[in-house]
Amino acid sequence: MIEHDVIVIGAGPAGEVCSGRLAQQGLDVALIERELVGGECSFYACMPSKALLRPAELLDEVQRVPGAREATSGGVDVAAALKRRDEVIHSLDDSAQLPWVEQHGITLIRGQARFDGERRVRVDDQLVTARRAVVIAVGSGAAMPPIEGLEALAPWTNRAGTTAKRAPASLTILGGGAVGCELAQAWSSLGSEVALVEALPRLLAREEPFASEQVAAALRDRGVDVHVGVRATAVARARNGSFELTLDDQSVLSSDELLVATGRRPHTDDLGLETIDLEPGATIRVDDRMRVNGRDWLYAIGDVNGRALLTHAGKYQARIASDVIINRDVRASWDGAISPRVVFTEPQVAAVGHTLESAIEAGVDARAIDAKLAGTAGASFIGKGAPGTARFVVDDERELMVGATFTGVQVAESLHAATIAIVGEVPLHRLTHAMPTFPTRSEVWLRLLEDYDH
Ligand SMILES: Cc1cc2nc3c(=O)[nH]c(=O)nc-3n(C[C@H](O)[C@H](O)[C@H](O)COP(=O)(O)OP(=O)(O)OC[C@H]3O[C@@H](n4cnc5c(N)ncnc54)[C@H](O)[C@@H]3O)c2cc1C
Repeated sequence: MIEHDVIVIGAGPAGEVCSGRLAQQGLDVALIERELVGGECSFYACMPSKALLRPAELLDEVQRVPGAREATSGGVDVAAALKRRDEVIHSLDDSAQLPWVEQHGITLIRGQARFDGERRVRVDDQLVTARRAVVIAVGSGAAMPPIEGLEALAPWTNRAGTTAKRAPASLTILGGGAVGCELAQAWSSLGSEVALVEALPRLLAREEPFASEQVAAALRDRGVDVHVGVRATAVARARNGSFELTLDDQSVLSSDELLVATGRRPHTDDLGLETIDLEPGATIRVDDRMRVNGRDWLYAIGDVNGRALLTHAGKYQARIASDVIINRDVRASWDGAISPRVVFTEPQVAAVGHTLESAIEAGVDARAIDAKLAGTAGASFIGKGAPGTARFVVDDERELMVGATFTGVQVAESLHAATIAIVGEVPLHRLTHAMPTFPTRSEVWLRLLEDYDH
């Protein structure tokens, strides 16, 4: 039996940040990982998907800017793009992460962790106990929709969808959320013929309707066959090995590969949760201190608590949990669906806080103010015809911004200003003193605020 102050289960972004902060505070931390230190994000999700998207995105930008356009010929070099993706994911080798673990004095234990009662965790036949706390940061895997026989046909999930060694000739993607849209754009830019199927009436259904429309239009312009408002009802493999997906409008989509991107399920089915009175397979709900059922020794952070399935949200929760463990009086002040979020398609969709619809649903006295990014001087350098829209959702009663959505090229980097305005509850009349630099697309803030004044 080995005893530590804190056991962190799962070395994805949430587990890494939590264990690093605790170790920096002088605690003796054991970090347990069954696969790769760095988690889904580094190897099969955020990082490789962005690496796959980037070459075509950059080429598109060059094509929009005269002077640069003339210097390029041809399209994306697929082999080089895939090689760069492999570099980004270190060819699925996590040894580059290990010096960080060592420098922090964290004890890394490789293997599948399972609870064996309160503060007790087994890794194979080794028992590890925690003097102070156990943090569950086991993340999530792809959820399979209830289509008979689908799982047995071994479709792609985000894992093959981000690490495949070649672009399939044809690919059908089930699910038009962020993952489905990003991977539809990525593989289409690498030469695959892509169909994208979403059961809801629009892609990116939780974002502003204009964002969904712009992304759908851009994907269609790239040749992606976008189906919305249709449900897949059956799947089979044809004799030649291709997938045949039947939709409820009776059409059949045939493709070499099928990628399932219809949501996530927490990695809690084989975690021994029954030994600590929690339900195996379920999402682990937490309070604003990231504590499970108010227990002062048990925390759950990252995808596994279902609040916001995003890396930065998991890292934020990791900071909260580690602070609570070292007896600081903190709690998450916001989190969940209104967290900052970016869909890295082209146009990108960068949003924080409420959409107009979610604000109204939440009972806010909400109003939307819209402006086109193309109306700013800064946009002229991004290139002619690049789409871009900004929406502020304002709370008229409190005179605060409660949501912002930006669409356009590289708008992800502009989102943090809106995040700060919302978190800081900066009054709208005060924001008019925040001078945007010229010539940048940030001048759109002035247009939005002038409209608010009228
Ligand atoms: C294709 C795709 C693209 C994405 N892009 C973005 C993006 O651009 N930006 C963004 O913010 N988010 C993105 N996400 C979401 C992001 O990947 C997740 O929110 C993030 O990885 C969650 O971090 P985590 O630490 O909670 O879990 P994970 O990253 O899933 O890590 C959990 C770790 O726990 C380990 N583990 C599980 N069970 C056990 C056990 N019993 N014992 C030991 N170890 C265990 C796993 O092996 C894993 O390494 C994307 C997701 C996908 C699928």
